[in-house]
Amino acid sequence: MATRIDGKVISQQVIDDVAAGVDQFMTQHGFAPALAVVLVGDDPASHVYVRNKVKRAGEVGIHSIERRLPADTTQAELDAVIDELNSDDSVHGILVQLPLPPQLDESSVIARIRADKDVDGFHPLNVGALASGQPQLVPCTPLGCMIMLRQTLGDLSGKRAVVIGRSNIVGKPMAALLLQANCTVTIVHSKTVDAPALCAEADIVVAAIGVPEFVNRSWIKPGATVIDVGINAIELGGQRKLVGDVHYADVEAKAGAITPVPGGVGPMTIACLMQNTLTAAIAQTAQRS
Ligand code: NAP
Repeated sequence: MATRIDGKVISQQVIDDVAAGVDQFMTQHGFAPALAVVLVGDDPASHVYVRNKVKRAGEVGIHSIERRLPADTTQAELDAVIDELNSDDSVHGILVQLPLPPQLDESSVIARIRADKDVDGFHPLNVGALASGQPQLVPCTPLGCMIMLRQTLGDLSGKRAVVIGRSNIVGKPMAALLLQANCTVTIVHSKTVDAPALCAEADIVVAAIGVPEFVNRSWIKPGATVIDVGINAIELGGQRKLVGDVHYADVEAKAGAITPVPGGVGPMTIACLMQNTLTAAIAQTAQRS
């Protein structure tokens, strides 16, 4: 049976390290790192995500600033809020909760955030830095996956890794980080021919697809490490249940280690957001002194 990679335990270690770093930062500078979270509209899931981020920030001593805007906010109004946060030296990290209402252009919003305050790591400059092997602020979910992989496997050099999914927020940055760690990386997507055979050669499989329990044991090499990024709500016996992109019960018998859903990658994402906020605050204050 595979070892269960416990995201709650590992994320708590990250949180403890960030809290210690925040303490040190405050002693040095006399103020706390600050994270601004911008939420536009009434999407219930987004409200839950923002609440959790603000709560976690409070736990590690990061000051959070919430900017809630109505669903009919115009591009010019949102741009003005971002510009104000960009020029405020007491704000070190800016996060605009996605998705945005349809009248707003996500790409232009992401590009408007100052790159050194882009704690989501989505700004084109941060994307380019990662792609060219000089990562600065890195997207939180893949960063969390890398921490779990390093804790489980140690040095990743020479491992064969398959990333299923090529989104800008998970698949592509995940592949770039694995490459940076000297893995031999294959990206699988919806047009890939014979994805299961490619995955079955991998020492590491990262699934970020968005299809419930899509990956079964036929995709997995015996002893492989499986990271399940997927979070899918399904109905089972009239009850709502969260499952990943990997069929946990099926794959558990063949993999060497596997992350559960929930309690795997999910908690790592928020922990890494806190880590990125501290990283951004340290970099900005160093530049000013
Ligand atoms: P996304 O933007 O929808 O991308 C999904 C990717 O999966 C696409 O690249 C797509 O390929 C690929 N795909 C879809 N069907 C496939 C198939 N049959 N075979 C191979 N590849 C296939 O999704 P995302 O934002 O990356 O998120 C993926 C999952 O992770 C979702 O369940 C999401 O909720 C979850 N997630 C979790 C966290 C967390 O904190 N744990 C964070 C972010 C996302 P094409 O490009 O060819 O269409």
